[in-house]
Amino acid sequence: MVPTNDGALREMRWQVAESGQGEAVLMRKRLSDTPEEEAFLRADEACDKCAAAMKASILGRMQAAGAALRRPSLAMALAYAAPSAIRLAFKPPEHAHAWATEMLAAEQSSQKAWPKVLSESEIIDEAVDAGIELGLDTLPAKIRGKVDVGAAKKLARKRLLAGMFRQNVAAYEESLRGLEKLASAARLPSMATLVDIERLASMFGLTSRQAAAIVRATEALFNYGPKNTKARLESIRRAMVRQIQTALEARAEVLGQTIGREAISTGQQALFETAQRQGLLDEEKQKREWVTRHDEKVCPICDSVDGVVADIDQSFEAEDGSILFQPPAHPRCRCSIRLVTVKTPKRATRRRAA
Ligand SMILES: [Zn+2]
Repeated sequence: MVPTNDGALREMRWQVAESGQGEAVLMRKRLSDTPEEEAFLRADEACDKCAAAMKASILGRMQAAGAALRRPSLAMALAYAAPSAIRLAFKPPEHAHAWATEMLAAEQSSQKAWPKVLSESEIIDEAVDAGIELGLDTLPAKIRGKVDVGAAKKLARKRLLAGMFRQNVAAYEESLRGLEKLASAARLPSMATLVDIERLASMFGLTSRQAAAIVRATEALFNYGPKNTKARLESIRRAMVRQIQTALEARAEVLGQTIGREAISTGQQALFETAQRQGLLDEEKQKREWVTRHDEKVCPICDSVDGVVADIDQSFEAEDGSILFQPPAHPRCRCSIRLVTVKTPKRATRRRAA
C-alpha cells in the first residue's frame, strides 16, 4: 500500500514498528508537531535503550543466582519433588536485603561471561539522566535553565533505589516460585528423565507460569510422540533448553522495560516536583497529563486515565479505583506523562468527561 500523505505514512511506520520483532524501535503516534512533542517522543527511545541494558544485566543476575544455589538442597528438591528444599538452597527470606547486595556482587563477578552487564547504580544513573533530559525539554523554555537539576537527580535516585530494591525482591520471590513449580513437577516421568540439578539451576528466573508452560510442553512431547528412544529424549531435552532460554530472555525483557520506564518516569517527575518547589511552575496552570499509545493494545486501566490531568504531585485515579502515580501502571505499560498548561484552571477536572 502506498501512503498518500504524511499521516498515512506515519500510521504505516507505526504499524511496521508495532509488528516488528526484537530490536525494532517502537514509534509512538504523534499528537502534535510541536518541539515539546519531539522531546516527548524521545522518552520511548531512551526507554528502549534502557531496557536493552537492563535485559543483559537481569539475565546476568539470573544466571549468577542460579549458579549460587546450593546444589545438595537442589538435588534433594529434585529427588523428593519437594519445593521446600528449594528454599533451603537459599538463605531464609529475611535475607532479602542481603540477597540484593549479594546479587550486585555476583553481577560484578559474572561480568566476564556477560560482557554488557551494568551495575544497578550505573543503570539508575543512565535512566535518571534520560528522564531528566526528557523532563527538561518538556518544561516551558523560560524556566528550563532555572531548575535545580542536581536536586531533581538526587530525588529521583533516592526514589528509584527504593523502588528497584522492591522490584528485585519481587522478582526473586517469583523466581523462587518458578523453581518450586519445576521441582514439584519432577515426579512426572517426563521431567524425571529430563531435569537434572544443573538444568534446574539454569531455570532460575522463570516465573511460575513460564515454568508450568515448559513442563506442559515437555510432557506433551514425552507422552504423545513416537517411542522415547535415547535420541528422541535428547531432542526433547534440547527443545526444553531452547524454551528455557527464550522464556528467561522474555522475562528479562519485561523486567527491563518496566524498570527502565519506571526510571524515566521518576526522573521526569522529580524534575517537575523540583521546579514546583522552586516556584517555577504555576500550580494552578501547569499539570501532568497521562498519555497512552492510543492503539488497540492499551489496557482498560491505562485507557481510563488517558488524557486525564492531575496536579504535579497528585495521583491519577483509574476506572477500577486503582491509584496511579506515574507510569508504568503494570508490566509492559508503555504510557508516559507530559506537562500541560491548563488555560482555564477552575474547570480542570481529574476525570476525563465520558
Ligand atoms: Zn499504560
